[in-house]
Amino acid sequence: MTGQPFDSPVPPGTGWPGDPATRGTPVALTAVDVARLAADAATVHEVDAMSSVCRACPRLVAWRESVATGNRRASFAHQPYWGRPGPSFGDPTASRLIVGLAPAANGTNRTGRMFTGDRSGDWLYAALHRTGYASQPTSVAAGDGMTLTGVRVVASVRCAPPENRPTPAELATCGHWLDRDLALTAASPAGLESILALGGVGWNAALAAARRLGWAVPRPKPMFGHGAEEHLGLPDGGAVRLLGCYHVSPHNTSTRRLTEQMLDATLRRL
Ligand code: SF4
Repeated sequence: MTGQPFDSPVPPGTGWPGDPATRGTPVALTAVDVARLAADAATVHEVDAMSSVCRACPRLVAWRESVATGNRRASFAHQPYWGRPGPSFGDPTASRLIVGLAPAANGTNRTGRMFTGDRSGDWLYAALHRTGYASQPTSVAAGDGMTLTGVRVVASVRCAPPENRPTPAELATCGHWLDRDLALTAASPAGLESILALGGVGWNAALAAARRLGWAVPRPKPMFGHGAEEHLGLPDGGAVRLLGCYHVSPHNTSTRRLTEQMLDATLRRL
């Protein structure tokens, strides 16, 4: 896409399209580091930059880099792999967030952009284009010119996990980045109007972040469901709508558990 060679994983600040980090971006090595650096981030761009070089979860760092260097899917074997955490993607002034699960090993972990280069992303970006949020219907590579307006896509866990299953400890550690994304968005001039949670993991991650931030979360804990809607109370008296949507996973879309119509209808409520 860029015509220039890259190492795998891609070193920060070497020209990969959309790379938010530089060679000098501080690197978190522990959960304590993540909490400290996330709290220090003054903008969502800083969250993107620091999370994109994070190394706080040893199991996930080892997995993402092993896929990037030695276990690439055969059809992508000739390509460089991002091999780093997936930073959030979209409009930095957005008042709407989409919270997914985690990067795919040969999707975001290859391309460096959320939901880019895999079948889940094909579904999500086509729907975002149909509903007016995305500039184009396909998302194949970080340098393809895609832009989002009014919405940003974030992950519950920013590194590709084996079998798409992060551990509770990994979710808790990465939750510090999510907390800061939510807090900064809520404090922005546009505010945080709504969150679309893709699947139960995204739903639970959004609720856990809201609780950690001191927002009012209904009790008992609201259950995830497609089309579910809850209101999270902000300290200033405002509220954030939380919407549930089945994940755009190949399993859900190939079985028609989630259809284009269902996804579009949920995005139109965002
Ligand atoms: S999962 Fe999150 S906290 Fe863990 S290494 Fe990746 S970016 Fe850092």
